[in-house]
Amino acid sequence: MLSPKGLLYKQPNILGGQTDVATVTPWLAPIVWEGTFEPTLIDTIYKQQNLTIATTVFAVGKYVRFLKDFLQTAEKHYFLGFCVHYYIFTDQPEAIPAVTLAPNRTLTPVKIPSSNRWQEITLRRMERLQEIIKSRLMSEADYIFSLDVDTKFYGPWGAETLGRLVAVLHPGYYTTGRQRFPYERRPQSQAYIPAGEGDYYYGGAVIGGHLEDVYRLAKTCKEQLDIDASKSIEAAWQEESHLNKYFLYNKPTKVLSPEYLWQDFKPKTKEVKVIRFSQIIKNYAEVRPNP
Ligand code: UDP
Ligand code: MN
Repeated sequence: MLSPKGLLYKQPNILGGQTDVATVTPWLAPIVWEGTFEPTLIDTIYKQQNLTIATTVFAVGKYVRFLKDFLQTAEKHYFLGFCVHYYIFTDQPEAIPAVTLAPNRTLTPVKIPSSNRWQEITLRRMERLQEIIKSRLMSEADYIFSLDVDTKFYGPWGAETLGRLVAVLHPGYYTTGRQRFPYERRPQSQAYIPAGEGDYYYGGAVIGGHLEDVYRLAKTCKEQLDIDASKSIEAAWQEESHLNKYFLYNKPTKVLSPEYLWQDFKPKTKEVKVIRFSQIIKNYAEVRPNP
């Protein structure tokens, strides 16, 4: 039974909360903005289901240094009160910082080899994601989010983000026309999107959904990446380009606003009422193994 307390909410006309942004896609998937939902109500509904949210994070090479802030801020803001299982893919399990996790939250290190090319590290994420979903997550979790580690949480991220297939609007392109999206434009690549096509430009730092849906996404993107590799072509924005291609033909059932993927260097805009998750400023030359 839902507790009556959880079902009460403050805003009588919640749909009037955000009027200056689109809150639904042309295929009727919600676009999640502050003011369009009541967090307590949504959390109350989802908490009845006793869900586990698998959260996969890669921290290879120097990127292990980002884990501490990522985990500490996730413990303050990310799915509070839910069962969260972090899976940390790293070449240095011993370097995973000891961050105190709330009850019902666990962390599993997954050892993977290091690489001397960052493109290789990011490109292999789809393959590893596909493998771990199949080998263990199907029986260990209900939903999954795969998140970049060079990030921090600054605001609440809860059950409003759950859906079958969840994408995030890239903070750099949510006000831009589709002709300016940095899709892969060479027809030789499997990530190719012709001019005039495309719905949104999605960020590669957040992928989420049901395990089966994210499994299909990871498997398809991995296959497409392999075909490109066999032709020695690397898409403009690596797996983000393939992700955008996938979402063009497999529409996300929920789209997160750029509140869920901001960039620390970017000043807050009027549409963004809350920054929930943001990419930190990093010195690429210093953290990546190759230029
Ligand atoms: N990554 C990593 N080690 C590397 C490069 C990348 O662990 O040397 C992982 C890490 O999880 C990172 C993600 O791949 O968040 C995406 O890479 P990056 O953040 O460098 O790409 P950007 O967000 O700058 O496009
Ligand atoms: Mn990143």
